[in-house]
Amino acid sequence: MMKKRILIDVKVVADVSRGISSWRARTLETQAKEMESLASEFNDFVRDHRSMDWITLEVEKEYQDQCEHCQNLWEVDADGMPECCELAKLEHVATQRKINEVIEQSKS
Ligand SMILES: [Zn+2]
Repeated sequence: MMKKRILIDVKVVADVSRGISSWRARTLETQAKEMESLASEFNDFVRDHRSMDWITLEVEKEYQDQCEHCQNLWEVDADGMPECCELAKLEHVATQRKINEVIEQSKS
């Protein structure tokens, strides 16, 4: 057999969903804010409990670049040209043209 399964990382996951009011946290941004305030509240609470006061909750946020026109993942080719939609391509070409104009003007 060529494939084997090894443990490469381990972490504790805290489920805080019961502490998040779903009617208020409708977007990921507001969910993140609620989780951050909950984590900080928990950290204050646990600080008074000596045997466990070394535990801290931290909120990890992952970001992704996406196109503001089509909302797809932002990916560019080797020349920096966006690959998602025509509008992004047009905008990129227009921006490059503008930049070249400014460079030309600064030369003269
Ligand atoms: Zn796009």
